[in-house]
Amino acid sequence: MVQDQEAHAAEMERTFIAIKPDGVQRGLISEIIARFERKGFKLVAIKLVIPSKSFAQQHYHDLKERPFFDGLCDFLSSGPVLAMVWEGEGVIKYGRKLIGATDPQKSEPGTIRGDLAVGVGRNIIHGSDGLETAKDEISLWFKPEELTSYTSNQEKWVYGVN
Ligand code: GDP
Ligand code: MG
Repeated sequence: MVQDQEAHAAEMERTFIAIKPDGVQRGLISEIIARFERKGFKLVAIKLVIPSKSFAQQHYHDLKERPFFDGLCDFLSSGPVLAMVWEGEGVIKYGRKLIGATDPQKSEPGTIRGDLAVGVGRNIIHGSDGLETAKDEISLWFKPEELTSYTSNQEKWVYGVN
């Protein structure tokens, strides 16, 4: 199916994806990026950062009442995190599918957590869970000028845009 440019642009979404310190330390950066890249999603921002604990608390503010919150924030701020923004049609929901269930014991084989992680507290990757969260997380982690906007050479082959 050939899509016109306008319809294609209207379908575009962005999501925030982060490889947590365990994924970085375990040498899984290229493995994880490859899965998003091969699917046909487009990388629009990337940086390696060590977040402070208060930054981690902001990122996970929705979970502040949970018993694991403090440990989770200590962990996220314990080393480098690879922060990324990926763009594509349906990337928020499908990104979560690529990642798999929160608890790697329940993640399907073929998903990132299913294939590469074992414990819920060390599940190697974060992905935004909806449109609003994606917007909030992207603006928390990235300045507007860090987000690139470009046409990927693959777009007409991935989407059939004319
Ligand atoms: P996600 O969106 O799939 O990452 O899951 P949540 O937003 O519910 O939780 C954020 C992160 O908190 C998860 O990715 C886990 O690393 C951690 N987490 C969630 N539930 C538990 C739990 O029951 N125990 C522990 N130790 N960590 C948890
Ligand atoms: Mg979440």
